Order: sequence, then C-alpha cells, then structure tokens
Amino acid sequence: KLKVDQLSLRFGESEVLRRMSAEISETRVLAVVGPSGGGKSTLLRVLSGLLRPDEGQVLWSGGPMSFREKDLLAYRRRVGTVFQAFNLFPHLSALANITLPLVKVHGCSPEEARQRAETHLNRFQLLAHAGKKPGALSGGQRQRVAIARAMAIQPELLFFDEPTSALDPEMTYEVLEAIREVREEDRDLVLVTHEIGFAREVADELWFLHDGKILETGPPQQVIDQPRTEEAQRFFERIL
Ligand code: ATP
Ligand code: MG
Repeated sequence: KLKVDQLSLRFGESEVLRRMSAEISETRVLAVVGPSGGGKSTLLRVLSGLLRPDEGQVLWSGGPMSFREKDLLAYRRRVGTVFQAFNLFPHLSALANITLPLVKVHGCSPEEARQRAETHLNRFQLLAHAGKKPGALSGGQRQRVAIARAMAIQPELLFFDEPTSALDPEMTYEVLEAIREVREEDRDLVLVTHEIGFAREVADELWFLHDGKILETGPPQQVIDQPRTEEAQRFFERIL
C-alpha cells in the first residue's frame, strides 16, 4: 500500500511537486507516466528516499516514511534504484559494480555476491562484458548493468526511471520479463516510463502526472483508453 499525501517540493523558485496526492491499496507494479518536466523523476527520488519533500507525507503500508537522515540511510538499504543517469561507478567493472554494494551494504559474502551478480549479468546477456568498465560499455549495456545491479539486491522495493529508454526490443522484453518476476515474488516496483505500451502490459496501476500533480489514477487500460482530464487525453492522443 502506498499513499502520497499533499506532497510539495520546490527547487528554488519553481514548485515541482504541487500538493500531490494519490493512493493505491496494493502497490505491486505502479507505472508513472506524463509529459517531460512534470515531476516524475522528482517523485521517484522522494519515494526512494533521496529527496526530502518540503511538505506532505509518503505512507507505505500505513506508516509514514521518515525523512530524518538516519532513517533515510536505513530505508535506502531496502530499496533498489535504476535512474535515468545510471549512476554506475566509473572506475569499477560491470561485475564489481554489482558485487560491491552487495558485499558492502547488504552483507553478502564475496562468494554469494559473485554468484548473484553472474546470474543477473547472464540474464541480461552481459557475461561477456563483466570485466568492462562503464566507459567501455554501450548505453544499453550500461542500462542493463544498472538493472542487473538493482535486481541482484533483491530489495523489497524497486524504483526504475525509464529503464528501457536505451534498449532494443529484445532487451526491453528481458526487462519486462524481469519486472513480471518481481511482481510474482510479491515485491513492489514503481516505474517511470515513456513507453505507454510497456506500462499497459506490465503495470497493475498507472498514475498520470502533469505539472507537479497526479491528475489520474487507475488500472492502465482505463487511464490510457478513457482518460478523464483534458491533459491526459492530449498526452495519450499524441503518444499512441
Ligand atoms: P522527464 O520525462 O523529462 O524525465 P520528469 O517528469 O522526470 O521529466 P523531473 O526531472 O522530475 O521531470 O523535473 C521536474 C521539474 O523540476 C523540471 O522542470 C526540472 O527542470 C526541475 N528540476 C529537476 N531537478 C532539479 C534540480 N536539481 N534543480 C532545479 N530544478 C530541477
Ligand atoms: Mg525524468
């Protein structure tokens, strides 16, 4: 269960989240879509404990999320994130990018970390590139390393910000399959995506975010095919 209550956030003069409210009874896979600059990545960073809102609350399973620094540090251990600028460590190989947080943050033995990393590298067809540093990988390969890293942590909560933006259809399919598995394992995932077809296929719930506000919520088919607001109608018309 996730509830966002009157969430506000400003960057200097500009109000990026504007008293944003929405809730869902079961999270599972939540897709967040909407026009560029609307605040999707900002919302994701608040939900994953990287940004503190100016006002309002986030409630997971009934309890409010604490934005005190100490609590945020603990919270971040329980979540996996894949962000638009993938945040790989540039001086580490693909393999070490995955094993390092497993050992340092999540208490895995080096042996187990290596095993988990190889499983996930293999799954995203990256085993041949395990020894390369991010600078020597293609954009799509980097993106897959970031996804493999988040998945390998096996966190309670996953946050993906446009995980398929640099991927070809085959790899997009792999990510879709991986997301399906997360759902089957009863873990929750919040996904920002520009690919409406992808959102429709993989999400249980969809939020349409526009100019700092969540204007529509509901099952993806319903929101995409029968949007109630003019903003959403315009958005989906242009995209589909
Ligand atoms: P996109 O689909 O292009 O990724 P988005 O919906 O994810 O867009 P955000 O990245 O959340 O949008 O940005 C929302 C607004 O906040 C934008 O107008 C952006 O310029 C502004 N913004 C984001 N991060 C910062 C920052 N660190 N400092 C100042 N303004 C910011
Ligand atoms: Mg964004």
